[in-house]
Amino acid sequence: AVIGVVRESAQGERRVAMVPKVLERLSAKGIEVVVQPDAGAAALIPDAQFERAGAKLADPWAADIVVKVAPPTEAEIARLRSGSVLIGFLEPQVRPEITSALRAAGVHGFAMEAIPRISRAQAMDALSSQGSIAGYRAALLAAEHLTRFLPMLTTAAGTVPPASVLVLGAGVAGLQALATARRLGARTTGYDVRPEVADQVRSVGAQWLELDIAAVGSGGYARELTEAERVDQQHRLTDAVMGFDAVISTAQVPGQPAPVLVTAEAVAGMRAGSVVVDLAGAGGGNCALSEPGETVVRDNVTVSAPLNLASSMPEHASELYARNVLALLDELLDEQGALAVDFTDEVVAATCVTGQDGQS
Ligand code: NAD
Repeated sequence: AVIGVVRESAQGERRVAMVPKVLERLSAKGIEVVVQPDAGAAALIPDAQFERAGAKLADPWAADIVVKVAPPTEAEIARLRSGSVLIGFLEPQVRPEITSALRAAGVHGFAMEAIPRISRAQAMDALSSQGSIAGYRAALLAAEHLTRFLPMLTTAAGTVPPASVLVLGAGVAGLQALATARRLGARTTGYDVRPEVADQVRSVGAQWLELDIAAVGSGGYARELTEAERVDQQHRLTDAVMGFDAVISTAQVPGQPAPVLVTAEAVAGMRAGSVVVDLAGAGGGNCALSEPGETVVRDNVTVSAPLNLASSMPEHASELYARNVLALLDELLDEQGALAVDFTDEVVAATCVTGQDGQS
């Protein structure tokens, strides 16, 4: 099979789905890889490095398997060949029209966000690789926007106490944010509606905030709260949030709008100079005052809701993503490098959003 690596067209998208280091492994197996010129430019990877890794610079859209990061546009879908495979974030739950368009074009769409969260699929788990980058960056952003020190400082001029950081939603991004804030010297606390993550929160040196609201869904995810639970949670979190210098929120439920955990009242109650970094902007935000993609100051508190934070570290984000893609390709290709998709396989069945009879 020929693999095509495209240049991303989405605004602000700096990642590329394949990097030279990982591409070498495909070349070594005799698999032909075609890279669109400048595909790695935004990730600071020059074309020449792809060529050295064995790729050909040409039009990648007619390849048997096209790999990308951001969802395809209509024009991009029109360039795909019937019977081909497209691998990328395809947003099957938020934008089902993409899946329909791929199906209509006879393209097998493999959505990276649909990789099941099971041990066997861990190497393919792009939500985790990109989530941990976002969590790391979120902690740095909190430190940057906070008008105070994160670590405790003992100086001749006196002692500064450490800042306190609360992380709401202790999944992959949240745990990385906790670990990073802690390494910067903050006192950290984590909160989630899945009680089983309490131990993971403690294992990164944070305290666990217990609000006695458990909402465990399926597949390792949380479920949406009932109206009564939601009101109760907002009420109790409003009290808790006011005591922290920085709040980093990452709470999401797949396919649902982001739950509002930080109310306007909570922000107003935070000390001047405090900060909220909201990673759930794409789903509308976990903070009532968040403006997705923007950083605003409200009541002397900075509220930042950056979108696509992983893209702000394009080299590592691309490298980890490329490894996830390679692991998925291993499932789709046989020993000779030919496309051999077993649609009955658990990972394939979950990830191929167009279904087995996406007419090829
Ligand atoms: P996510 O991005 O969907 O959500 C982030 C966090 O927000 C989750 O921990 C969720 O419980 C929490 N949340 C949702 N609603 C909330 C609310 N109202 N209040 C507070 N918190 C709320 O989650 P994720 O980071 O993608 O990870 C989901 C789970 O999958 C985790 O348990 C993770 O350990 C697990 N996982 C398993 C594997 C594997 O076994 N291969 C790989 C990666 C992740």
